[in-house]
Amino acid sequence: MIPIAATRPQASVPDLAGVLARRITILGSTGSIGISTLDVIRHARAKYGEGVLPVTALTAQSNVKMLIEQARAVRPQLAVIGDETLYPELRAALVGIGVETAAGRGAIIDAASRSSDVVMVAIMGAAAIEPAIAAIARSATVALANKECVVAAGGVFREALARSNAAVIPVDSEHNAVFQVLNGGDAGEVERVTLTASGGPFREWTLERMEAVTPEQAVAHPNWSMGAKISVDSATLMNKGLELIEAHFLFALPSQKLDVLVHPQSVVHCLVTYEDGSTLAHLSAPDMRTPISFALAWPRRINSPSRKLDLPALGQLQFHTPSPERFPCLNIALDCLRSGGLAPTILNAANEVAVGAFLGKRIGFLDIPRVVEATLEEGARASRNEAPSDLYGVLHIDARARTVAGEICGRISA
Ligand code: NAD
Ligand code: MG
Repeated sequence: MIPIAATRPQASVPDLAGVLARRITILGSTGSIGISTLDVIRHARAKYGEGVLPVTALTAQSNVKMLIEQARAVRPQLAVIGDETLYPELRAALVGIGVETAAGRGAIIDAASRSSDVVMVAIMGAAAIEPAIAAIARSATVALANKECVVAAGGVFREALARSNAAVIPVDSEHNAVFQVLNGGDAGEVERVTLTASGGPFREWTLERMEAVTPEQAVAHPNWSMGAKISVDSATLMNKGLELIEAHFLFALPSQKLDVLVHPQSVVHCLVTYEDGSTLAHLSAPDMRTPISFALAWPRRINSPSRKLDLPALGQLQFHTPSPERFPCLNIALDCLRSGGLAPTILNAANEVAVGAFLGKRIGFLDIPRVVEATLEEGARASRNEAPSDLYGVLHIDARARTVAGEICGRISA
C-alpha cells in the first residue's frame, strides 16, 4: 500500500524567501483551523515583511460576516461563500476592492482548483472530499487538516495522488507529529505508532453520568479550542477512531501497528516505536498553529505565534489505556479499520449525522455510537463490503449512509 502523506524526493530545499512567497488558499477560513491559519500568516507578515504568504482564495460555508472581514484584511484574489443566499451580502461588501466573489458548492471546488502553492483544507466533514481532490489533481501542496475526507475516501485519495505531483502534509496534530518523526524514513522499520488522546471532557465520567451530557458540556474541550463537530468527536473518542483510520491511509500502516494512549496533557502527540526498541516522540504545546506553520513552510520551518512548551510548569506527563466500555466509538472505528471496504465511509457519514443530531438536541450523547453502529449494520446487510472504487462511489455510499443514519436519529427522537 502506498502512503498518502509521503515525502517525495525534493529536487532542492527551497530557500526561506521561496517559502515566504508561497501563495496560500484557505478552504474553511472561518473555522477554528482557518482562523489559526490566518493568524500564522499575520504573524509571518509582522516578522518577515508585509507581502509574505499572499492569499489566493478564502472560502466559507455560512459565516459571511467573518469572511468579509477576513477578505478585507488579507485581500485574496477570490472569496467564496458556500451558501448562495448569502452571495448578495458578500458581493456588496467586497465590490471595488479587487477581490473577486463567488458562491455555491461548485465555486468552492473552483477555488481549490485555482492556481496557488499550498491549499489548507480546513473544511469540516466529508464536504472536503471534492475540493481536496481538486487541489491534488492540480499538483498543489495540500495542508490537510480535515480527516473525514481521508477516512471516507482514502483509496480515492491514493489514486488521485498517483496521477499527480501533489504532496499531502498532515495538519491534524498527531499525524503531523508522525510525519515529522518518520521524516520520510522507511515505515517498514516501524513496529508501532501510538496516537495520543486527551480523553476529552468526560475522561473520568461513568456511563450513567454520560447519558445526560449536553452539547454545551461536550464542546467544552479541556485542552484544545476547536469547531463543534470535532469537539464532540473528542468527547466520544470517535475523533481518535477516525484518526486511527486516517493514520492507516496517510502512512500505509496496518491496524496491528496502530494504537492509542490517553494522555490528558496533550503534549506528546505521537510515539513511534522502531524494531530496534527506540521510541521517538513528538512534543509541543497543544496549539494548532504549530502544525499549521509546519505545513505552510515544509520542508523548512518558519517563526510561529504558537505557544511554546514549558515542561517544568507542567511537572508531569501521564499516559493510560482508554476504556472501551465507556468510549465504544473507539472500538467501532477500530472494527471499521480492520474490515475496510465500505465501512470507513459509512462510519464517517453516520457519525457526522449523529453528531449533528446531538448538537441539535434531537438525540442524546450515548445515542451517537448507537446510531453509528445501527447504520453500519444496515450497510453490511445492504451491500458487499467492497471499497468504493471512485469518487462517485464514495459520494453515493456517503449519501446513502446519511439517509439511513438520519432515519435512525428520527426514530430515536420520536
Ligand atoms: P470548524 O467547524 O470550526 O470550521 C469549519 C470550516 O468549514 C468553516 O470555515 C465552515 O464555513 C466550513 N464548512 C463547514 N461546512 C462546510 C461545507 N459543507 N462546505 C464547505 N465548507 C464548509 O471546524 P475546525 O475545528 O476548524 O475543523 C476543520 C477540520 O479540521 C475538521 O475536519 C477537523 O476534524 C480538522 N481538525 C481540526 C482541529 C482543530 O483544532 N480545530 C484539529 C485537527 C483536525
Ligand atoms: Mg488530532
